[in-house]
Amino acid sequence: MNDFILVINSGSSSLKFAILSQQGKQVILEGIAERLGSESASIDFEYNQTKETVSLNLGSHQDVLTSIKSWLDQHPHITEKLIGIGHRVVHGGESFSQSVLIDDKAMNAIEACANLAPLHNPANIKGITACANLFANLPQVAVFDTAFHQSLKQEQYLYPIPMHFYRDHTLRKYGFHGTSYRYISQTLSQVDEQSLHQGVIVAHLGNGASVCAIQDGKSVDTSMGLTPLDGLMMGTRSGSIDPMILSFVAKAEGKSLDDCLNILNKESGLLGISELSNDCRTLEEAMKAGDERAKLALDMFCTRTAKSIAALATSLTTFDHLVFTGGIGENSVYVRQQVCQALNLFGIEIDKQTNIDLPRKQIHKISKAQNNKTVWVIPTNEELMIALDTIHLIQA
Ligand code: ADP
Repeated sequence: MNDFILVINSGSSSLKFAILSQQGKQVILEGIAERLGSESASIDFEYNQTKETVSLNLGSHQDVLTSIKSWLDQHPHITEKLIGIGHRVVHGGESFSQSVLIDDKAMNAIEACANLAPLHNPANIKGITACANLFANLPQVAVFDTAFHQSLKQEQYLYPIPMHFYRDHTLRKYGFHGTSYRYISQTLSQVDEQSLHQGVIVAHLGNGASVCAIQDGKSVDTSMGLTPLDGLMMGTRSGSIDPMILSFVAKAEGKSLDDCLNILNKESGLLGISELSNDCRTLEEAMKAGDERAKLALDMFCTRTAKSIAALATSLTTFDHLVFTGGIGENSVYVRQQVCQALNLFGIEIDKQTNIDLPRKQIHKISKAQNNKTVWVIPTNEELMIALDTIHLIQA
């Protein structure tokens, strides 16, 4: 059956790609191009359990896609089944509440959102443009991280600053990880149909981390804001802090606003506190070896996640399910244990042994059997969601 979809996640210094078949269920090819724009840029193809690395001159986005195209030219049995390309686009602003087929109008709107996500959207646009040049006969679809949160009410998405900032510049909370939240909400409803009419909080904990409250299948609040810097403490991002810290640091250390933001984006979070690593696994190993700062960083991460979940619960009618996902949420026994312990007063209780024994990459319930609040671990799959949206829009 011809249902192969090329999924592209184009970042500023890396580009992840995959070809999915069978309604997104089977991965045919996966790969990543890294260190784009530098002399050591390279691209990895993983196909048939074999990995092949190709170096890329300076590695522009066009170079990466050209390299993918020549790989495909050598594998015509795959290319002939390709029916479309799905792109992850970080910011859809207020223009997109769902995925769209990319035409000139959509492209203009994506470009207009670039000022809201200057680190992300320009890279997404480069990926789309390169694909349009190289695969002119394939339809392209954009799937937005922000789209799922367009259901937020004004009282949730407005910042308490003068209204003209919203009127003049659409400054508001947008929220991110929306494709992951949509996937989790749908997957949860397949294992527990009731959940589509209940209150769910999903903690997407990875290098970037956020939480989302979902009522009756719709996002009602989320922790990230205008940008992905807001909300939870993350790998290298501070998350929400007192905004006066910016002016204090700028004055105390003679730094520019951009320097200060760089500190909050790249030098803070788990890395800033541990002074060791942004990586949860590395910190857990260090904690086990007695590193107290690694433990402090992890405990701050858990405390702040739990606090944010508690705050988001106020936007639900009932709080019925808590779901962990993302690299940390799916894999860290310690983080799940600490977060749930802090939420014990909400009636959240997990079975400690089930939390430890959990098989990887599977949907699992970890709450105690008699508990009426269900705690789940559900592996996310944003690529599948992008492939499905692409198929759906092409066929429509
Ligand atoms: P992102 O997509 O935001 O870059 P991921 O969702 O891939 O991030 O998550 C990466 C994080 O998951 C890292 O901090 C990594 O250490 C953590 N992680 C992966 N496996 C484990 C594990 N077995 N135990 C603890 N943390 C893990």
